[in-house]
Parts: sequence; structure tokens; C-alpha cells
Amino acid sequence: MNPRIICLNQSSTLKITALTKKLRQQGRDVINFAAGEPDFDTPSFIKDAAKKAIDSGFTKYTPSRGTVILREKIAAKLQQENKIPVTAENIIVTSGAKYAVFVAIFGLIKEADEVILPSPYWVSYPEMVKLAAGTLKVLPTKASDNFKIKIEDLEKAITSRSKVLILNYPNNPTGATYSYEELQEIYKLVRKRGIFVISDEIYEKLVYDGSSHVSFASFDGAADFTVTINGFSKTYSMTGWRIGYLAAAKKIIDEISKMIDHTTSCTSSISQKGAEAALGDKEWQEVIKKEFQQRWDILWQGLSSCPKLKPIKSQGTFYMFCDISQTHLTSEDFASRLLEEHLVSCIPAESFGAPGFLRLSFATSVENIKKGIDRIKKFISQL
Ligand code: PMP
Ligand code: GLU
Repeated sequence: MNPRIICLNQSSTLKITALTKKLRQQGRDVINFAAGEPDFDTPSFIKDAAKKAIDSGFTKYTPSRGTVILREKIAAKLQQENKIPVTAENIIVTSGAKYAVFVAIFGLIKEADEVILPSPYWVSYPEMVKLAAGTLKVLPTKASDNFKIKIEDLEKAITSRSKVLILNYPNNPTGATYSYEELQEIYKLVRKRGIFVISDEIYEKLVYDGSSHVSFASFDGAADFTVTINGFSKTYSMTGWRIGYLAAAKKIIDEISKMIDHTTSCTSSISQKGAEAALGDKEWQEVIKKEFQQRWDILWQGLSSCPKLKPIKSQGTFYMFCDISQTHLTSEDFASRLLEEHLVSCIPAESFGAPGFLRLSFATSVENIKKGIDRIKKFISQL
């Protein structure tokens, strides 16, 4: 078999999420801090649009880049909310944002090109770089810097072979996000050094405590060298619908669209109608943001009161990162014992390039968060 596949790691997030769901189906009372998806149902106005699509026979292939109307709506959203200068010609709708990231990486790099990836990172980026035969250059960030890139470190990491910087903010797994000024510094540097940016902004709507989201491609001329990734999974609880998108310069889009033609053909026509309905809404976003903000507070308070744990206050997403090094357990051991002995699941951060940390998701109810914290305290007291 292809050695590029053999060397891939299994996705820890998907593996632990599947195990958690299986235990719950077996009737075990597992508190799920592992979830990489909102616990809310997809809103009914989106489901209704999809049902209508089925009933009216909108069930065939669409253009491989996505329907014109959906791409126009996405372009309008990006222009108005994100200040990114795009039209429908700059958009490809994909089978989930994950596939948008993959085609962006595969499309931009050739063998041995360097991809700079700040750590902690979402599990799938390094594996996608391996699939594309790129060279991964991990750029570590520190808890003491709130897990944000230091510009001097980025400058040092850039070589003549650097091709792409992967940015992901609000960040999975740390929840860190960047201000306008911080992004501007990065923008000036990558522009000067001629590096592409893949900016994964799928958690853009989930920012707390008054932080606001700035899109990288909104800086002057940045849309020419930035591939913006976004989707519907997180904001609209549509993880199973498999729909996301990328926005980039027309030249990049025209090339990448050939990959779509020959791999997935297009994403589901029904999901595209659901996404169209989602884009018409503003209320839902506010509802979930409020709910997540409340849970964020409760999880932060709870973790802060656990002996030996040092939570890092996230600014966005539905994740909280937590330093467990004072327990003297590896994150893998901590997570597996916590699940086996106290029925609490979370993701050990080795696979995010951050041993000694855990990722806890607050995509679960306030009641569950409180119960989970009690169980974690009990576990720590028994160590
Ligand atoms: N990017 C990040 C940072 C994510 O956490 C996820 C979650 N799976 C994705 C992309 C992909 O989302 P999806 O494929 O479900 O749209
Ligand atoms: N992105 C989510 C997570 O990090 C979903 C699982 C995945 O696709 O990795 O848990």
C-alpha cells in the first residue's frame, strides 16, 4: 500500500468521540468533554429547507464547485461580515471544511515544500501535509504566550522552501484567537516573504468576552495569497451534513476545482440547500454563542478549582485547554484512566503536538459540565 497512507496516524479526535458515543449507546453515563461538535440539534429552519429540497427533487449532482446561488450567498457573507473581497468565482463548496483544508494543502504545495504549522494544532493538519508529501515545520507556541505565534519565532522558521503558513483561529485545541494588530504583524511578514496562508476560521462565530474576529484575507491584498476555510459544522450544528467551503484567488480556485471534479464531484445537493437557509439567519448564531459563553464560564471556574490542574482561558471555540503536568501522568494516561475509572472523556493533547495538556470541550450541558468537574476532582484526589 501507499507508504504515505501507512505513515498516517489515526484521528484521535474521531477515535475518542466514537468510543464515547458507543459507551453512551451502551447506557454508560459518560460525560462527554471530547466532542468536537455542538450538542445542539441542527436548527429546524435548516432541516425544513433540506426536506423541501428532497421533496422538490433537488437531488442530483450540482456544479462541482457548488450551486451558483450558494456560492453567491457565501461570497456576500464573506464580503459583508469578513471584509474579504470575493465573488462567487472565488468559492468552492466542499464536503466539509476538512476537505477544503485538504484540497488547499494538496493544491498549494509540491513535494518537499515546507508548511509552517503552529502547535498546538488540530490533529488533521500534519496528516494532510504528509498526504501531500510536504515537509512539516512545526512552530511551537507557549502557554505563557497564550499559545499565540511570536513574530520573531515565525521569522526564524521561514526558509527559502517555506510555502504555506497554516493559521487556525479561534484555535482548535487551545481556543486562542488573534487581534487585528497581531494578525497585521503576521500579514506584513508573510507578504514580505511571499508565503501563502491557509486561514481556517471555522470557529469564527464562537468568540467570548467581547473578542471579535478579524479575517486574515481582509488585509490589503491578502486575499491574493490566502485560502480562507470556513463551513457550517460548528456554527449551525451541521457536522453530519458534510458541507464547508474555501475562498481564494480565482487562479487557485480554478486549479483546485479540478480536484473536486475528479474526487467528490460535488457535495450533497440537499446539504447545499440547508446551507443556503443557514446563511439567511443571524438569530441562531446569537443563541448558541450565549449558551457557549455561559458554559465557557462554568468550565473555566470548575477547572480552576481543581487541584493540580492549570486551565488556559480560551478566547473562542468550544474547547478549553488544560495543563495536567502537575499530576505527573501523561495526557494519554490521564485521559484513559479518567474515562475508564470515572466515565469522563476528553482528548489527550499528544496528538495536537502538546503533551502534558488535555482538551476539554464544553459542547455539553451545564449540568454535565458540573458533574464532569466533580468526577475530575474525585479522580485527582485518588491519584
Ligand atoms: N478545521 C478545524 C479547526 C476543525 O476543528 C474542524 C472540525 N472537524 C474542521 C476544520 C472540519 O470541519 P468539518 O469538516 O466538519 O466542516
Ligand atoms: N474537529 C473536531 C475535533 O477536533 C471534530 C473531529 C475531527 O474532525 O477531528 O474534535
